[in-house]
Formats: sequence, structure tokens, C-alpha cells
Amino acid sequence: MTSILALDQGTTSSRAVVVHQDGRILAQAQYEFPQHFPEPGRVEHDPADLFQTTLRAAREAIAAAGERPSAIGITNQRETVVFWDRKTLEPLGPAIVWQDRRTSDRCAELKGRGLEETIRRKTGLVLDPYFSATKVEWRLRDPDLRRRAARGEVAFGTVDSWLVAKLTGGRHATDPTNACRTMLYDLASRTWDPELLDLFGVPAEVLPEIVPSSGIVGDTAAEWFAAPIPIAGIAGDQQAALFGQGCAVAGMAKNTYGTGAFLLLYTGADVPAPPPGLLATVACDPRGGVGYALEGSVFIAGAVMQWLRDGLGVVATAGESERLARSVPDTGGVYFVPAFVGLGSPHWEPEARGTITGLTRGTTRAHLVRAGLESMAHSSRDLLDSMLQGTGLEIPRLRVDGGATANRWLMQFQADLLGVPVERPDYVETTALGAAALAGLAVGVWPSLEAFVAGRRFEVFEPQAGAEDRDRWVRGWRRAVGATLHWARG
Ligand code: ADP
Repeated sequence: MTSILALDQGTTSSRAVVVHQDGRILAQAQYEFPQHFPEPGRVEHDPADLFQTTLRAAREAIAAAGERPSAIGITNQRETVVFWDRKTLEPLGPAIVWQDRRTSDRCAELKGRGLEETIRRKTGLVLDPYFSATKVEWRLRDPDLRRRAARGEVAFGTVDSWLVAKLTGGRHATDPTNACRTMLYDLASRTWDPELLDLFGVPAEVLPEIVPSSGIVGDTAAEWFAAPIPIAGIAGDQQAALFGQGCAVAGMAKNTYGTGAFLLLYTGADVPAPPPGLLATVACDPRGGVGYALEGSVFIAGAVMQWLRDGLGVVATAGESERLARSVPDTGGVYFVPAFVGLGSPHWEPEARGTITGLTRGTTRAHLVRAGLESMAHSSRDLLDSMLQGTGLEIPRLRVDGGATANRWLMQFQADLLGVPVERPDYVETTALGAAALAGLAVGVWPSLEAFVAGRRFEVFEPQAGAEDRDRWVRGWRRAVGATLHWARG
């Protein structure tokens, strides 16, 4: 038997999954770990927790699979910052998590100095505390850490680097999909950017070596598993999901329907220019080499259902929405724009708020719930449209994952609205799949990404609506969004 162990170190839990060469999931294990909120706006993890929960899940999954995997692939929460001692591999302070906002003022100051454009051009990112650079800068303000860093005693890394260092007993490496989220990496030259290192005061000695996403990085140290296992794949969680969905050809995209929706469109070998509100990012090409993608999010997706359930009480469970949507032929002219926290790309209006239009005496909760579900599909289409317009690409299909893809009515409506098939894989932990694929390609478990994806089964939702219906729905949605914008700007 031949299998790969995928380690998925996420924001709230660490998961290990053993994927067989034929695509079967042989075993999985998962452990949560504590979140620390030392002050408002601050979010930290204990790096020891991140490693220990990952190790425990890995050992349990290997034992349950009953065989030693051929290689390990790592995928991880992105942007989170860890420092450790190069010699002892002891963490130096807590991990500052991507959600942490402590560097907001610093970002505002840099914006005030007009640096946003340069940073965006080089990194594809927006100047925001979300990314690693200002967090690294913040940590290095500690005089002791800075002194030790100058002596070459300190290693910085995102969570992938931290796990690689611990698992191999000291190898200091990261991959381009993680490096590009630090705001210290130049997308075009594919290297750490000296100007950005200078701006954020980051000495080059603390940085990991950038190695390919697919390739052997090192063997695990003897103490962790019964025998050494090569680490052969690394990717940030979203790029891993994109790869795990087999999206490594220009025009292939995946959308994750969770609380919000998370869309990545693979664009090819050249750095794309991101439209407002979107990011350009490194993604993996079919061999696990460097390609590029556009990335963006719908702020409110499944959260619409949470609000209808918890805020209005019109459904008891999110799952009930499917039956209600099917119980009416349409929304009766109702449109629901859930701009609870503003409108994202392509409208980009932070002051917008939620709007329901077209109410009549005949409107029922079924209409409202259906309009809520439709909003998830419309918002995703808007985001995709702005990506496609910027690139001139067309999508042949949309691959989907995330909790709300359980709703088959929604998947069908999304296909109808896009006019392309929507494909939902049998195993939805696509992040772990991507890490497994990258490692498996490196050690020859799969000859190609296609061979890997052939091991998955997809439920395909073919578009059934005609162009006329589609245009009518989109026109109505645009009017409702127009009303929402008018309200915000009026
Ligand atoms: P996250 O990872 O963001 O917590 P999940 O991927 O677990 O999200 O998906 C949960 C979200 O999906 C919730 O917002 C929930 O309201 C929504 N959801 C779950 N099941 C359904 C369903 N059958 N129809 C519509 N939305 C659903």
C-alpha cells in the first residue's frame, strides 16, 4: 500500500489525514487547541500547542491507517507569525495570529505615507494588519529579540516553517504560497524583497529559505515517528484547497461556502493585476511550481442563514433552508442583499448595509429564505465576474467546498446563475487533499495532478436555466445592489 499523510494546521484545530494512492481516505484525526485573546484586538496561539496537536493527530492517523505514509504534506493557517530559537527550537513568545489587529495604527501610518501602491504592486496584497510584515516588525521591536536576531540566533516563519523546523529538527524553510502572504515577498521576482525587508526592519538572517511547494524538504527526526518520513509538500491553506480541487489551469476556480465565501481563480504563469478589493497571490501550477491566482472573499455567505436562524428565527436550522427554497417557485420578486458589513468586490462600499427589496403582502418566510440563499450565489457570481473581467478568462466550471455546499438547491442555483457546471467533491477537506497531492507528486505516488484528481468523485450540477432567466435574475440583483449602494451613499 502507498499513502500520503496530510497535516492541516488550521486556526482552531490541527488535522491529520492519510490519503491512499487510489484516493481513499484511510484515516483522520483532529485536535483543537486554545485561542488566546490577551487584549481586545489581539489573537495569539501557543506555538507549542500548534506543534503538539499536529503531532498527536499525525501519530493517531498513522496508527489508524495501519501503514507508514510515503511522505508528508503540510498545509497551514496563513500569515500567522512564529519566532523560535534556531538551536533549541524553543518558541520565542506566542504566535501572532492572522486575525490580530494590533498593527492597525502602523498600517494606517504607512498608508498615510503613500506606501500602499508600492506594496500592492510588489506583493499583490493590501496594506492591512492581516498579513505578516507588520506583525514581524512589531515583535522585532523587542530589543532582546532584535539583538539575538542580529547574532543569527533567531528564526522567523509562518506556521508551515515552524512545523518543518520541529519535525525535521531544525530545517528552516517555507514555500512560495506562504511566503507571498508575509508582505515581504515580491510576486514577480519570487524572492524576499530587500526594499520591503528594509521598510519593516526585518533582518534577512531571520528568514526561511523559500523551497518549492512540491519537493522533498527533509526527513522527520527519529523521535517523532517509528521511522523517518520525508516532508515533500507545503502550501498555505487556500492555495492547498485550490490545488486539491485540481484547479491549476488558467480559468479554473474554487469557491468555499462557509460563514463567508472564499474564491480563488487560477490565472496562469504571469502575475495578474488585482481589481479593487481582490488580492494577487502565488498558487501552485500543475507540477506544484509557481503560478498565480486572484483571491477574494464574499463577507457574508452562510452567515445569511445564521442570521435568518438566530436573528429572525425564520428557520430552525440552516439545513431547513433547502426545503423552504424548494417549496416556492421563486422569491416572488424579493431580493436580499446581505451587506451587513459593507459590500465587497466589485462594488467595494464599506458603508453599505443589508437591504431587502420587493416585499409584498404575499411574501412568506420561504421567499425570504430563498432570497437569502440566492444572495450567496449572486455575491459569488459578482466576485467571479470582477476576477474574469480583469483577466479576460472564462471559467469552464466552478469547484466548490465548505459547509453550505450541503445545500443541493443552492448548488443547482449557482450553476444556473453562472451558466457553467458546479462540481462538489465527495471529500470536502480539500485543503488536506491539496497538501497530500503536492507531497505525492514529489515522491511519485501520483504521476500528475490529473491522476490525483481522478481518485476523487464529483457531484456535478449542470446548468439548466436558460439565458433569459439568468439575465432576469441578474438584472433584479443589480437593481437591489443599486438600491443598497444608493442607501449607503445617499
Ligand atoms: P466556517 O468554516 O466558516 O465555520 P463551514 O464551512 O463550517 O463554515 O459552513 C458553515 C456555514 O454554512 C454556516 O454559516 C451555515 O449557516 C451554512 N450552512 C450550513 N449548512 C447549510 C445549508 N444546508 N444551507 C445553507 N447554508 C448552510
